[in-house]
Amino acid sequence: MIVRFLPFFIFVGGPIALWVLWAARSSGLLKKKVPLKARERQVLAKYALYYQRLSPEAQHVFEEKVSLFVNEKTWVAAGIAATPEMKVMIGACAAQLLHGFPEIELLHFNRIVVYPESYRSHRSGRLHQGEVRPKAGMIIISWEDFVHGYAHSRDAHNVGLHEMAHALWFENTIINGEDHFLPPTTLAHWQQLATAEIDRIQRGEVRYFRDYAGTNQAEFFAVAVEYFFEQPAVFKAAAPELHACLCTLLKQDPSLA
Ligand SMILES: [Zn+2]
Repeated sequence: MIVRFLPFFIFVGGPIALWVLWAARSSGLLKKKVPLKARERQVLAKYALYYQRLSPEAQHVFEEKVSLFVNEKTWVAAGIAATPEMKVMIGACAAQLLHGFPEIELLHFNRIVVYPESYRSHRSGRLHQGEVRPKAGMIIISWEDFVHGYAHSRDAHNVGLHEMAHALWFENTIINGEDHFLPPTTLAHWQQLATAEIDRIQRGEVRYFRDYAGTNQAEFFAVAVEYFFEQPAVFKAAAPELHACLCTLLKQDPSLA
């Protein structure tokens, strides 16, 4: 009986098995974990404040995430070669934001473009410090501005975290096996609170966040993430409900660090 159906199983089962293999591979399940090199770990130990404050176990998870960014993303030089230090630090920025999501690696954004400094956008003609292009799966960063963001770690301006936040916001809606990881009810609550805050910013009422946060939901989220990490205690005191919601959304609370 089984022998009779064998050709059928091979005919149907073969392609299915191949598809499962492909899906597992592209979703990251079968990716080989490459440990960071000693020199790359030294970069984290020396420059990544967020990493330094983690427990040894959490540092290990953080390193795995950084390694995925360093080794699995395609790094595109735009007038500057992406050095190992740049890759590690940009990976560390992503690992910081994704700390509450050990399984999320921003799969859709497989290309990271590094410019030496602010660059003029072909589209807008304006100078950019960074941007995210979801259609092309690209995260673009000006290295000079990235470094400036971390060098001034309390001014709530951090282009790295800002662009990673945009990438995470898009990633959550792109159906690719790592979508909808932001808890839906918390996300709905966040959007409700954000709408009210955006209205207040647009009406010119004096609020805590800088005016740019009032542009739209995506910018509000990206700017809020900058405040979340750079001014955690002030954010918590100024907008406790938004802060608590963002802690639940991102599954971490930097104000406790
Ligand atoms: Zn933005």
